[in-house]
Amino acid sequence: MKKIAILGSTGSIGTQTLEVVREQKDIQITALAAGSNITLLEEQIREFHPLLAAVWDEAQAKELRLRTADLHIRIVSGMDGLLEVAAEPQSEILVTAIVGMLGIRPTIAAIKSHKAIALANKETLVTAGHIIMPLARQHRVPILPVDSEHSAIFQSLQGEGGNRIAKIILTASGGPFRGKTREELCHIQVEEALKHPNWAMGKKITVDSATLVNKGLEVMEAKWLFGVEADQIQVTVHPQSVIHSAVEFEDGAVIAQLGTPDMRLPIQYALYYPKRRALSGGRLDLFALKSLTFEPPDQSTFRGLSLAFEAMGAGGNLPTVFNAANEKAVALFLDRKIAFLQIPDIIEACMRQAAFIKDPDVGQILDTEAEVYEFIESRW
Ligand code: NDP
Repeated sequence: MKKIAILGSTGSIGTQTLEVVREQKDIQITALAAGSNITLLEEQIREFHPLLAAVWDEAQAKELRLRTADLHIRIVSGMDGLLEVAAEPQSEILVTAIVGMLGIRPTIAAIKSHKAIALANKETLVTAGHIIMPLARQHRVPILPVDSEHSAIFQSLQGEGGNRIAKIILTASGGPFRGKTREELCHIQVEEALKHPNWAMGKKITVDSATLVNKGLEVMEAKWLFGVEADQIQVTVHPQSVIHSAVEFEDGAVIAQLGTPDMRLPIQYALYYPKRRALSGGRLDLFALKSLTFEPPDQSTFRGLSLAFEAMGAGGNLPTVFNAANEKAVALFLDRKIAFLQIPDIIEACMRQAAFIKDPDVGQILDTEAEVYEFIESRW
């Protein structure tokens, strides 16, 4: 029996992780953490029998304790609760499926407790990759990518030993607004931004896909996971989302991973790495594919991507500024307080006014996040 804990069990990645657990039948859930959906969390507790569960708010934790009084489970809350779930003594793997920089401290706690990390929470690597990656090496803990593009790259690297990566081809669907002009994007409504052409995901990442900020975050994630620089990463818009990403080696060989868009595959690959297991679901039918197309991203309309490259080049706390500004701007957009095109404007304004810190520690990363939030709240 494999033993795993999940941060963000009620979200898109969390529930799909539990679908894999349900199908495979040889994984024991040791601990679960959610934000506020205690109804779904209670159902998950009754189905998967973890010994520990966390919710963010103590009042909700109290309510959940009452609802699960007939079960053998401990309910905890707040950041201390997340840290307990992350370091739960029995678990071997932590699936990080929460959104945002909230994941940094629990990921560090899990690494220090020698848990392998199945990483979906890209914001943690984007902002604290310079802390997470050396710490993982020091504790000999693998960081296993769950993001489909990074899993594809990881799968393409299997058996390649020390062969140098010449280039990573990071594919992007282009989101729902591919081909649109800035004028056409002026009046985009929340509902339109939440309609992704190929993937069903949480709200924040769906908006990030529409702005191409998600691809920018993925470029930074790739840098930390695979030790490549910005000029070795080529973002390629591939609307069919069949090639999940590829690696070009020095001899010109390109190795890619293809498949139907189904997040359960990269999740399962991370949980059982290096083994593959049978998995239900659709199969790629090459004859049914009319064509596979590729185009460069439109970085002048979707400025989020070029700002991400700029933040990555500057390094230090600039990726944190980029990420925090985006998190806040997306929340404002979802609350209908700003327009779609203001998201990159806000990111850029925050990047221009930020005080640069070359090698920020966790405290400075979280301070930078708070300063960015304050700056945005004072203006928008
Ligand atoms: P969702 O919004 O669907 O889920 C987020 C999860 O985090 C929910 O379980 C939510 O709980 C929980 N959460 C929110 N706040 C807290 C908190 N304060 N304490 C504890 N838990 C909290 O997000 P996704 O699953 O889409 O994304 C998760 C991460 O994975 C993101 O970093 C995203 O970029 C990445 N990712 C997602 C992909 C996808 O296909 N969805 C693909 C690749 C990467 P609740 O709902 O109960 O409030």
